Amino acid sequence: MKDLGETKEAVRRMGLRLVETGLVVGTWGNVSVRVGDKMVVTPSGADYGALTADAMPVVDLDSGEWTGPKPSSERALHRAIYLERPEIHAVIHTHSPNACTLAAAHRELPPILDDVAQLLGPSVRVADYALPGTKRIVRATVKALRGRMAALMANHGAVCLGRTLEESLLCCQVLEKGCKAFIEAEFLGGAKGINKFEAWVMHQVYLRKYSQQWEPK
Ligand SMILES: [Zn+2]
Repeated sequence: MKDLGETKEAVRRMGLRLVETGLVVGTWGNVSVRVGDKMVVTPSGADYGALTADAMPVVDLDSGEWTGPKPSSERALHRAIYLERPEIHAVIHTHSPNACTLAAAHRELPPILDDVAQLLGPSVRVADYALPGTKRIVRATVKALRGRMAALMANHGAVCLGRTLEESLLCCQVLEKGCKAFIEAEFLGGAKGINKFEAWVMHQVYLRKYSQQWEPK
């Protein structure tokens, strides 16, 4: 298991990468990593350029209590995912542009590309709308994530999971690329999906094949 100091620094660096890659704009978005029975999460209203590793809150997964500055207002979502999904060690929440377009239209992302199906699962569902920071949005999003590595959140954004922090970033990038391809393919006469069962098989093979290399250290 990684130590807290190392994890805080990894979360800080990931915040910067999300801004650099355009997945996060301004302070909208948050990152967390599980460390044992706790999670390190970006603080509320984080300015990623100015954040230091010392400014990262640590939240107890059982009680929800934290030490350090006030954690992101979306901390309850991160916490609920770790409690529901023991294999998940990192969560990234973004309001990335193409994912937001699908979230605004309440359109599920079908398995239109092999890499989308392998990494994210046989579809990326849209969680029902609820006000940000509420129990309802947490419940709806955790439900939409079942058997998946990503979900869209209606009229809001997206959440991506990873067995490592790197894998959660890859999920965000593949989701954003998949949403862009879907929107554009619809303009070209309609996106054509892969058979859903085959997409599910590809996802299972990916999870097993890469489970060794993604094993948390
Ligand atoms: Zn959000």
